[in-house]
Formats: sequence, structure tokens, C-alpha cells
Amino acid sequence: MNDIIIGIDLGTTNSEVAIVENGKVTVIADNGHKILPSFVGLDDNGEILVGASARNQYLIYPERTVKSIKRLMGQDTRVTMAGQAYTPQEISAIILKRLKAIAEAYVGRSIAKAVITVPAYFSDAQRQATREAGEIAGLEVVRMINEPTAAALVYGAGQLDAKRMLVYDLGGGTFDVSVVNVQSGVVEVLASHGDNHLGGDDFDQLIVERILAHIRQQFGIEVEPHGKAMARIVRAAEQAKLVLSDEPYATIEEEYLLERQGTPLHLTLELARSEYEDLIADHINATLDATHIALKGAKLIASDIDEIILVGGSTRTPCIRERLFEEFGFEPHGEVDPDLCVAMGAAMQAAMINGEDIGTVLVDVTPYTFGTCAVGYLDGMPYPYQYIPIVHKNSVLPVRKSEAFETFTDNQREVNVRIFQGEDPDALNNVEIGEFLVEGLLDVPAGNIITLTLDLDLNGILHVSAREKASGKEKAITINNAISRFDSGELSSAKQRIDGLFGDSAEQAGRTADSSAVAAARQVIKKAEALFETVSAEDKEDMVDLIETISTCLESDDEAGLKEPVERLNDIIYYLES
Ligand code: AMP
Repeated sequence: MNDIIIGIDLGTTNSEVAIVENGKVTVIADNGHKILPSFVGLDDNGEILVGASARNQYLIYPERTVKSIKRLMGQDTRVTMAGQAYTPQEISAIILKRLKAIAEAYVGRSIAKAVITVPAYFSDAQRQATREAGEIAGLEVVRMINEPTAAALVYGAGQLDAKRMLVYDLGGGTFDVSVVNVQSGVVEVLASHGDNHLGGDDFDQLIVERILAHIRQQFGIEVEPHGKAMARIVRAAEQAKLVLSDEPYATIEEEYLLERQGTPLHLTLELARSEYEDLIADHINATLDATHIALKGAKLIASDIDEIILVGGSTRTPCIRERLFEEFGFEPHGEVDPDLCVAMGAAMQAAMINGEDIGTVLVDVTPYTFGTCAVGYLDGMPYPYQYIPIVHKNSVLPVRKSEAFETFTDNQREVNVRIFQGEDPDALNNVEIGEFLVEGLLDVPAGNIITLTLDLDLNGILHVSAREKASGKEKAITINNAISRFDSGELSSAKQRIDGLFGDSAEQAGRTADSSAVAAARQVIKKAEALFETVSAEDKEDMVDLIETISTCLESDDEAGLKEPVERLNDIIYYLES
């Protein structure tokens, strides 16, 4: 038997460990978490903390905690943790040792070899320090590969024709962009550029400043001296950022944040995605400037790039995808979890070194973009049918995205929601797949906010709902087979068919919703039952419970009750199949 070689992404903010088993790449979870925050600390009793526990104590006990050690790798320096000095290699070794232990617990054997990824720009000294960290952790680093190489391997391992890929990697604390050439499992980095101090943490910081300004204005208080309140704000800021990746608004609520003369102060602040996007606009522009510098370094222009790969958790920020689409004219890939992609590539490289076969790691994605139309602009001119994409092509299924729209005229009591599939900026050049009317809106001036949510499941069923933000009034439809209906390429006949199906009748659309919810429920039960033989007893028990709940709803015609158990069962199936 070959020695096991694990693949490790030793990141500035987060680290992961992955392994290839029976041709399948698995990122190994520790207590259900695949991501290990790259934090090391010592607790009150002098016990070593690695990961989330160390991150949790960072804001309160920074003197006992070390973060972002990767930035110091290769430097002849020391960091102090609880009064003791450590080299960057030693701190990194503590993280590696934990990852090694997580992998050993998973495979039930000891592990002594690893492939570790490093940024393409790492110097010899930084690479040497990484190798030393491995040695201290008891790991022979059989190969060190560049992070963009690892990411490109995941997407292009089976690629026979040469492809040029742009790997856009925006993590918590660093941004790297690389242009690579991929052919037959060989990846060549043509050029790299980036910023060592730009990432999601900076986005969080901008939200923190926004919150502090709000508190200053509302209560006349400076929060900075209050460590625990600051820690809560920092956490709430990141949470709001994550919500804004999927929703148009996030509400930041922290009760009993502070006291003023014995009176408790509660924080409530709503942040709109558009406001957040304005806050981070300069940072996003900087990443695009860096992208053009990398292209120039590779002596290429945007149209020479065949594919864009998104890596790093911060690439889930929707405006990044949008800006890249504008620059390159096609949708970036996002099939593989951007947090896990590099570790998966490292494991694939490890398997190749061991001479193992690797199956494809790509998961179910939507091959189409879905969106709506609104009054806007086309080619710089006002236009009533500007296409607004909501769920983007290549998004991993299931996917749920919301966008906010505003009523156009004063006292507008209804909106007609039209749903399209396609990517043309003129909605009328895309295929209309559904339409419904939301009536009885509040009698208010223009600017009444309607949130539109598109929810596309693994079976290609698209749930669409429109909700008046002020009143909570909601109307929804379900579009069956939103994905597969166009596989044949018969777009125009599909268009006619759909026009006929939905017409102008909102009632008819409502009826479609009812029957397809039931059909979807029956389908998901079938799919779950087919998996029974291959799943663990624990998973099976969860699935049986959910099937029972769904069956009860079906028997009692409780269609509203179906949604949650069907979604949960779909989630389980999704994880079992991926
Ligand atoms: P990484 O270093 O690649 O693990 O990325 C970590 C960064 O990604 C952190 O700043 C996270 O807050 C950020 N991140 C994770 N998920 C999301 C999300 N859904 N939307 C925006 N940022 C995210």
C-alpha cells in the first residue's frame, strides 16, 4: 500500500486538509467543520488552542493569540504568544500538526507526507520556511505547489486541450490573481499579481467603521475602548457581510451592547447591499487593476482567457462575479467551494504523485443565468426591460439569491414580475420562463421595496417569490424544469410554449406552483430512497424522519409545510452525492 499523502492549504486566514480516496477528493471535517481558522493561542491554563477556539479568544486576549502567521513566513523574526517567543515556522507547524491529526483521525492511520500549497509569489526563503514548518510538524513535504496551480488542477485535471485560465483568489487577508495555462493535468503559471494586505477582513473593517459611526451618531459613544463590545461588533460585521452575499439587506442587531449611565444600549442597523458595495468599491477596483497587471505580465488580453476560476471565501461577494463578467464577457466558475478548492487541488496533486486515478470533482451547477427585468438603461439609454441577473450561470445547486427592486411610480399598487433565462443585457432577447402579478401593494410613494428571491434546487425547479419589504406581503410561483427544458437548444419554441403556459394569468401561475411542489416532494422521496443502501445508519435515520414529515404533509394537502423538509432532504442528498 502506498503511503498516504495529504493535501494541505496552509492559508493566511483559514487552512484545510484533503485526501483522495477511491478516486474521490474529500476535504476532511473536524467536528463537522472543514475549515480550520489559521489561529493559534494559549488558553488560561496554558493549553494550546488551534482554529476556531483560538480565533474566538483573539479579540479579547490578543497577547495570547497569533493570527496571519503566513505573512511572516521566511522572515527572521519572532512572534510573542503568552510571553514566549516563537518563530513563524513553529506557529505554522502547530497548525500543520492539527491538520495532520484531523486527517489521521479520519483515516485511522498515521500520516507522514503532505503536499502543501503556497502563493505563486512566495520567494525561496518563504518556501523553505514552509518546508521547515512541515518538518517540525512531523510531515515530509513531498511537494510544494502554487495555490493557483492547485485550483486550476481541480477544474482542469482532465483537460486535454490547452486552456488559459484566470485564477482570482480573494481570501480573508490576501488577494492573488494568476494567469495559468492548463493542459493534460499540467499547470503552468504564466503571471501572478496581488496584494498581500487585501481581503475579506478589510470588508469587515469597513462595516465595523460604519457601525461605529452609527453608534457615535445615535448614542454619542465611542466603542473602541470597550473590548467585548468591539468583539461583538466585529463578529456582527462579518455576519452581515455573509448575509449580503445572498440577500439585499442585512439587519445588524446586538442587544445590551453597552451601558450608558446604567441604561443598556441596543444596536439595530440595517445595511443595504448597495451601500455595502459602495463601501468596498475601491477594494474591488484594486483587484481588477491587479487582474489587468497579471494579464499584461502574461502578455495576454481579456479575450485570450478561456475560463475564470474563483477561489477564496470572499469571491462569494456578488459584485465580484458581476465585475468579472463585465470585464471578460462570461461567467466565472464557482462549482467547487471557493474555500476548499486549493486543498482539493493539493490532494489531487498528492494522488498523482502516488499514481492514483482521480475522478471528476465538479458538482451540479446551473448552466444558465436566471433573472428579471426592470426599468433601467441599455447602451446608456433609459430602457424599460433592462435584464437583471439574479442566479448566475455556474452557481452550485441548490442556490438561493435575492435582489431588491423599487416601485417606479407613486401609489403603484402592483408589479408584474417577469422571469427570464439568459445573459443578454436586453431582457427581451432572453427566454421568458415565467411571469406573475403582485397586487395590493401599499399606497406609498415610488421607491417601495420589493425583494425578489430565486431559489433553484437540484432538480432544476425554480421557486420565485416577490415580497413587499414594508408589509411582508408575498406572492410566489414555481417553475418546473427551469434547467433541463432548454437542453435541446430549442429556445424559441420554448419561449412560445412558456408564453402560452403563463400568459397574463397570475392565478394560473399560482396553480402551477401548487402541483409542482407536490411533484418535487415525491421526486425527492424517490431520490432519497434510492440512496438508502449506500448511506450510513445515522444519515438514513435523518432521511426517514424527513420522508415521514413530507408524507404527512402530502396526505394532509399541507403544501406550505412541504418546503422545509423537502429542502432539508435535498440538502442531505446533495451532500451525499457530492
Ligand atoms: P479564505 O481565506 O479563502 O478562507 O476566505 C475567508 C474570507 O472569506 C473571510 O473574510 C470570510 O468572511 C469571507 N467569506 C466567507 N464566506 C463568504 C460569503 N458568503 N460572502 C462574502 N465573504 C465570505
